[in-house]
Amino acid sequence: MTRVVVIGGGPAGATVAARLARGGLEVTVLERDTFPRDKLCGEFLSGDVVAWLEAIGVMPALEAHAPPSIRRARFTSADGREARIALPTPALGLSRRALDATLFAHAVECGAEGVQGCEVEAVERRGYGWEVRAGARTFEADLVIGAQGRRSRLDRELARDFIAARHPFVGLKRHHRGADDLAEGVEIHTFDGGYCGASHVEGGAVNVCMLLEERVVRALGGADWDRVAAHLRSANPALAERLATLEPAGDPLAVAQVPFVDKTRHEDGVLFVGDAAAMIAPLAGDGQAMAIESAVRLAELVLDGGPRPGLGPAWDRLWRRRFGVRMKLARTLQRGLLSPKWSPRLVGTVGRAPAVGDALLRLLRTRA
Ligand SMILES: Cc1cc2nc3c(=O)[nH]c(=O)nc-3n(C[C@H](O)[C@H](O)[C@H](O)COP(=O)(O)OP(=O)(O)OC[C@H]3O[C@@H](n4cnc5c(N)ncnc54)[C@H](O)[C@@H]3O)c2cc1C
Repeated sequence: MTRVVVIGGGPAGATVAARLARGGLEVTVLERDTFPRDKLCGEFLSGDVVAWLEAIGVMPALEAHAPPSIRRARFTSADGREARIALPTPALGLSRRALDATLFAHAVECGAEGVQGCEVEAVERRGYGWEVRAGARTFEADLVIGAQGRRSRLDRELARDFIAARHPFVGLKRHHRGADDLAEGVEIHTFDGGYCGASHVEGGAVNVCMLLEERVVRALGGADWDRVAAHLRSANPALAERLATLEPAGDPLAVAQVPFVDKTRHEDGVLFVGDAAAMIAPLAGDGQAMAIESAVRLAELVLDGGPRPGLGPAWDRLWRRRFGVRMKLARTLQRGLLSPKWSPRLVGTVGRAPAVGDALLRLLRTRA
């Protein structure tokens, strides 16, 4: 039987492991962390992700967490402009603590062996297959799938090109209480060198999550939450009003070096999926949909003929067809939102003509 090792048990890794195990392959998914655990993310599940979660059969388990529904989006700029649009399909707010643990458990239910607390350090060719090393343990595989997320020590070990470059973006998130007026809404507040989102997740919490250019963090002397929040209050008046309605209710999480660059989809026969294949700008709110969709598409490709020569290039072609356009559009929009010159114009345009916002949302998404 074909043996597959999946590295990383986040949304992409857990989904590809579940599909391949259901398809009859012998699958082991190796995850560095132990679930449940928190993760930096806006925790906004677009209508797209919801459709994929329904398609892979995990919605009943997720509904047990009672994720709040999100139906409206509001964008604001530093000079006081704002835009409001109705989301084309309802989204949900669900913590990564709940989502990732559920998806990993689903992979195990589908027949994959799930190993937690297991950080992969090396992947080496052995004859026609691979040896995957994690501490003292070794796993043999006929096929290795890398689902290790946006940036992992493993990428350095695999000598992937993108890892050598500097990626001048920092992500920051913290759960809060309050903001009752935000019910059923997601907000994105833009300012010079960053944007900050806020929306409800399960249990009445509000997730505040932002992307900042590294220069902003450097000027503030670091990613300390209180210092960043004080800066946000002076950077955008609508954001200052929003923060005034919120009380921190959890520890902040920060990550540096968030990579918005092209990556390889395969190297030396190892296939990459989810953020390990490329990361979409968070403003699209579609990273988790792409992680799950790319996992489903990759599993279909593998199951349709098994590991074979030419699988890597075939995966790359399929990936570009499915995700290439929205990836570029999201990066262009992100450049605009981070710019003090362009973000008021973008927000102002969508404010005057919400149809423009609807059209952009449609281009950023595909349905299951
Ligand atoms: C600031 C910010 C906000 C975002 N907001 C949203 C949002 O609101 N909505 C949305 O849809 N998307 C959002 N995203 C994107 C979303 O978080 C990602 O696209 C999604 O997590 C990708 O899933 P993944 O499974 O590919 O990677 P990950 O979720 O990163 O999972 C990778 C897994 O691999 C494990 N791992 C790493 N290295 C190893 C190793 N060597 N061995 C074993 N395991 C390993 C990690 O522990 C992790 O569990 C946001 C991203 C950022 C940066």
